[in-house]
Amino acid sequence: MAQLFFRYGAMNSGKSIEILKVAHNYEEQNKQVIILTSAIDDRSGVGVVASRIGLKREAHPIDAATNVFDLVSELNPKAACVLIDEAQFLQKHHVFECAQVVDELRIPVMAFGLKNDFRNELFEGSKYLLLYADKIEEMKTICWFCAKKAIMNLRVHDHQPVYAGEQIQIGGNEAYFPVCRHHYYFPPKDMLG
Ligand SMILES: [Zn+2]
Repeated sequence: MAQLFFRYGAMNSGKSIEILKVAHNYEEQNKQVIILTSAIDDRSGVGVVASRIGLKREAHPIDAATNVFDLVSELNPKAACVLIDEAQFLQKHHVFECAQVVDELRIPVMAFGLKNDFRNELFEGSKYLLLYADKIEEMKTICWFCAKKAIMNLRVHDHQPVYAGEQIQIGGNEAYFPVCRHHYYFPPKDMLG
């Protein structure tokens, strides 16, 4: 049975590399996959899934006007799997359309993304994926500053932690770190540089 999966993790938990790995595994068996990503994150060029270890490949960008169900129907209604990177940036309607892909086209959809923004609020895409996914899985990584599991994302600007502001600010001088709860509130001052 096709299912809607949401695999969430903090920054650097290997979400993009996992997408590339899953795609590779399907393709090795001559099964076709569709790779989608949010058009909001254009750090690697619009429509690219890029992992920090250097592997990358093209993806179809999703913007506000995209209907994911129509896009998948057009691209390949017989695809073996749909993989979505940066799923936290999806809007509510995109998540409904993903569910429609699963329920009507019977194609599994695996969405990967962050759960918490830097203010510790849910992203819109993550909120609706948590509500609508059949399977929810955590991808683990450790805190930037200690050996505990990272469950939050710390935004740093000019060596200072930032806890307020616009949810989405990509690029600029911001850096984001996967952190445990303690280090979210008390990051070591000398380590932020
Ligand atoms: Zn920590």
